[in-house]
Amino acid sequence: MIEIVSESRCVACNRCVSVCPTNVFDSVKGGIPVIARQDDCQTCFICELYCPVDALYVAPDSEAVTGVTEEELEREGLLGGYREKVGWGKGRVPVAKHEYLYQLSVRSGF
Ligand code: SF4
Ligand code: SF4
Repeated sequence: MIEIVSESRCVACNRCVSVCPTNVFDSVKGGIPVIARQDDCQTCFICELYCPVDALYVAPDSEAVTGVTEEELEREGLLGGYREKVGWGKGRVPVAKHEYLYQLSVRSGF
């Protein structure tokens, strides 16, 4: 479930507002978006993927709010962590190019 919009990182581009399929965020004039309907989050990670500055954190738990803080996420390097793992963003390797996926395809016979 979406947990954090980082005030220190967000550049108010409102991409998360646009891409969320369940309209979880509200844009704020002159400010950063707010999580307005957290219960509607589908834990799809799309907002995190599209955030250009890794300012979002979607927790893998789709049923409950974990209550994680931005400080904890910064410490663990987890803000935008899903996006980083998928390889979106400048200087990252897309997951489709990872060696293990190639090996998996070889083993699968594809
Ligand atoms: S994880 Fe998906 S449903 Fe949840 S806020 Fe982000 S885009 Fe919306
Ligand atoms: S996509 Fe990221 S930078 Fe843009 S408004 Fe949302 S949280 Fe902020």
